[in-house]
Amino acid sequence: MSTTADVHASNQPARIAVIGSGPAGIYASDLLVKSELDVQIDLFEKMPAPFGLIRYGVAPDHPRIKGIVKSLHNVMEKNEIRFLGNIEVGRDITVDEMHEYYDAIIFATGATQDKAMGLPGEELDGSFGSAEFVGFYDGNPNFKREWDLSAESVAVIGVGNVSLDVSRILAKTADELLVTEIPDNVYQSLKDNKAKEVHVFGRRGPAQAKYTPKELKELDESPTIEVIVAPEDIDYDAASEAARRESKSVDLVCQTLESYAMREPGDAPHKIYIHFFESPTEIVGEDGKVVGIRTERTQLDGNGNVTGTGEFTDWPVQAVYRAIGYHPQHVDGVPFDEKKSVIPNDGGHVIDSSTGESIPGLYATGWIKRGPIGLIGNTKSDAKDTTTMLIEDYVSGKLTAADKRDPEAIVNLLESRNVAMTTWEGWGRLDAAERAAGEEFERERVKIVEWEDMIRHAGPQA
Ligand code: NAP
Repeated sequence: MSTTADVHASNQPARIAVIGSGPAGIYASDLLVKSELDVQIDLFEKMPAPFGLIRYGVAPDHPRIKGIVKSLHNVMEKNEIRFLGNIEVGRDITVDEMHEYYDAIIFATGATQDKAMGLPGEELDGSFGSAEFVGFYDGNPNFKREWDLSAESVAVIGVGNVSLDVSRILAKTADELLVTEIPDNVYQSLKDNKAKEVHVFGRRGPAQAKYTPKELKELDESPTIEVIVAPEDIDYDAASEAARRESKSVDLVCQTLESYAMREPGDAPHKIYIHFFESPTEIVGEDGKVVGIRTERTQLDGNGNVTGTGEFTDWPVQAVYRAIGYHPQHVDGVPFDEKKSVIPNDGGHVIDSSTGESIPGLYATGWIKRGPIGLIGNTKSDAKDTTTMLIEDYVSGKLTAADKRDPEAIVNLLESRNVAMTTWEGWGRLDAAERAAGEEFERERVKIVEWEDMIRHAGPQA
């Protein structure tokens, strides 16, 4: 059994698997390619197409953020990186098996599921997790093709950027979104959207909202939307004032919310009400369907937290979207910390929860490492820390070198298991097909949604 120091000394390339082709996985791959190591990277992706969160998490009407895909694309073009799509690690190949083919494995699997809330009534018809809705409107083949948008009044729980995305998509007209890459089935569902009022609930105050200033301002840019904040919901305690002084971003968010609270009512047909100091206590149902949401009024306690006042309000709504944060999918064979919603790690190495020791050859980066918080840019510094640790371990020989070093060996294994692998060239074909579908309607692209159709373009060619 040789170590990676022996491999390094013999000038053979390091064999590294990165799991997840979203920004986290691609930034880590890029840093490894630019490092002192000679590397061969296999970038595994469970979806048939690359780009993770950019393709399946960013709202379609956010072209600025979607534009990051251009720089990710340039990284993927590098010879040292090979894309292997439609492969789920833990299902199609185990982590133990992967050690035979790779010197090191980086998990960059993100967070794609809804965090459980435990609110009474969460199971009712008309109660949705934001991840499900985002999956639907971003054309993720794992989610539904049709969405019930018959509710005229809708509640959205949480005051973070996902809540902004969900509220905006619910309040915009289908035709406003037609310039984006939304798939046809999404456009058809949105055409039947009856929502006139969206009520957003934050359990704390304006200074505790998790919005970023630019995204909050964008909420109000559509001519069909008016954002309304009640003046009595603008309140700050000592901790809130301190937060405003310390963070420009918090202050800008507060200023924007104050401006919404002060202005005269407009006549836009769709209203988004942002309610602060209202903590949801129950989703109210009748005959199994959502008919309302109950909230308890809260008040600041001086430290930026809140306490309940015992004053409850019932809001008549026919649908509730929970936008309270994401939860990662657990990968079989890798430790997982349910409480923190991360793979346990020391800033890069994966840690065995029972012994507290790092597991040789396993690393984590991005949301699966630090939790589902922060913007895409934050992922870059994460990737830097993780890859620096990996390179040090590699060069000093702390890792066992993989036995099966021929790049074709892993492909042969997956083919023997009849996995319909997609490739970077295949993505080129799928990308071209989506762009061609858009051309007819003068749109940049129309996303292809069905799994089989994606594989038909991006998978093995006859
Ligand atoms: P988030 O920023 O953590 O916001 C979650 C919200 O849910 C908070 O307001 C939180 O309130 C609230 N919440 C949590 N548990 C709750 C409960 N039990 N009852 C009531 N409210 C509850 O999460 P996110 O919106 O899912 O966003 C995740 C990350 O993605 C963030 O970093 C975000 O900036 C980023 N993102 C960025 C964009 C963009 O356009 N740039 C778009 C989407 C997402 P408390 O603070 O009181 O806990």
